[in-house]
Amino acid sequence: MNLQVQKVEPETPLVDVMDGASRWQIPIHEHGFIALVDSMPRLVPEGQTADQAIVQAARVSYGAGTKKVNEDRGLVRYLLRHRHTTPFEMIEFKFHISMPIFIARQWIRHRTANVNEYSARYSILPDRFYRPSIDNIRKQSTTNRQGGDEPVEVGTAEQFLELLAKAESNYQEYLNLSEKGVARELARSVLPVNVYTEWYWKCDLHNILHFLSLRMDPHAQIEIREYAVAMFELIKPIVPIACEAFEDYRLNAVYLTGLEVDALRNNKPLDTTNKRENNEWEAKKKQLGLVD
Ligand SMILES: Cc1cc2nc3c(=O)[nH]c(=O)nc-3n(C[C@H](O)[C@H](O)[C@H](O)COP(=O)(O)OP(=O)(O)OC[C@H]3O[C@@H](n4cnc5c(N)ncnc54)[C@H](O)[C@@H]3O)c2cc1C
Repeated sequence: MNLQVQKVEPETPLVDVMDGASRWQIPIHEHGFIALVDSMPRLVPEGQTADQAIVQAARVSYGAGTKKVNEDRGLVRYLLRHRHTTPFEMIEFKFHISMPIFIARQWIRHRTANVNEYSARYSILPDRFYRPSIDNIRKQSTTNRQGGDEPVEVGTAEQFLELLAKAESNYQEYLNLSEKGVARELARSVLPVNVYTEWYWKCDLHNILHFLSLRMDPHAQIEIREYAVAMFELIKPIVPIACEAFEDYRLNAVYLTGLEVDALRNNKPLDTTNKRENNEWEAKKKQLGLVD
């Protein structure tokens, strides 16, 4: 069989969504960073953004006829609003990220990405540790058992930093153990979880937006939030329409439960004695400007 590849010239000249750069990088804290290293699509018709890949995919299912009635922006916003998710999976981003191991542990829970991590079995971990600034050493929150709150007293913060430095001083012992022939896969266990790791992380836009909705949320730990906010900054210029729709319909939206709709509609208390649910309703009422 004679298979012939036909190469079709684009109708409009194509431009690089990353402006020809090899990476777009944002430093995080002293040693961390998040870098966008590739995008699919990488080339888009001049005058358009990568959002066009969402529109292109959606029009396969809706047919060319919709082109007349829907503007591209309106279509992307409709798709996101109505959770028609697969067109968003047509776009992918690849990142190179350096972060403390305790953040990587939270990040890796997002299972829909493709990940390749630095191997501390194969190589020595670099001497890089995360240290929060003194005003970011938080008190345990009294309302959120998973969260931190305002800064602790200065004396306590200093004591914490001293202990952190002590844990980090194990790094020299780690090197010594490796030199004495202890396998790197075991020697690393003397290091604290604020040591940095790095990985390549590739994910489609639908799942990135899911990641961002969870990790840009105030309930997420501040350290991972900083990476998530930076990730959003990196993709925004490439898919501005999808990002604007995400902000409007997900990030800044308020989701109401059936009980909350009932309470709002009938101007009555929430029909549950569950304390957490009532607290959540109070927080939403504040967000909606219904109470001070
Ligand atoms: C503030 C916060 C606190 C958290 N606290 C804890 C904690 O205390 N303990 C803990 O263990 N985890 C905790 N997590 C992690 C959390 O439970 C999720 O594992 C994590 O947020 C990833 O979410 P996901 O599964 O929706 O995302 P992904 O893994 O990216 O998956 C995306 C979506 O794909 C689908 N999916 C993926 N894999 C499967 C599958 N195997 N089967 C069916 N559907 C699938 C689901 O619809 C899922 O929502 C916390 C997360 C946050 C944001």
